[in-house]
Amino acid sequence: MFCVKCGSHTKKINIPDDIIKRDVCTVCAHVHYKNPKIIVGSLPVKNDKVLLCKRDIEPSRGRWTLPSGYMELGESLEEGSKRESLEEANLKYEIVKLYGTYSIPRIGQVLFIYLGKIMNDDYHAVAETSEVRLFQINEIPWEEIAFPSVDFFLKKYVEDYNDGNNFKFHTNYSELIST
Ligand SMILES: [Zn+2]
Repeated sequence: MFCVKCGSHTKKINIPDDIIKRDVCTVCAHVHYKNPKIIVGSLPVKNDKVLLCKRDIEPSRGRWTLPSGYMELGESLEEGSKRESLEEANLKYEIVKLYGTYSIPRIGQVLFIYLGKIMNDDYHAVAETSEVRLFQINEIPWEEIAFPSVDFFLKKYVEDYNDGNNFKFHTNYSELIST
């Protein structure tokens, strides 16, 4: 790759006290750290129904997802997840709790999902969404879910709902480790 500061070639080397090889500029010695991206989203609920958005963009166009997207600089997790629901579904919700995290090390992404209580009735499809709908838990279109992370949180929601609305904190990795 090329240095973001001076445009010269970089080289992957070990720098002191660091276990991961870094791309270091061969001219100005700038170290290029690469870190995961944060995705913020929500699982919005009203009268025990969950709100899903049908994606109008690739990947997974035509499949159902939770309102979510990349966190922006200058905002908190909470602000980011609320912004995404507004941008994708004109949806306003109150945060009930941080419902869980979902790590995808292979592509360097971490997802934070908030359980939300829907506050408005005029939610509708915007921009990257073609349809917004509330689903009873026995109507969730399991065969048409966009991503494994969405499937994970919807399954946890159904489990917690059937456990008497006992909404716990979930992460895909701690649960793998504890089994
Ligand atoms: Zn450089």
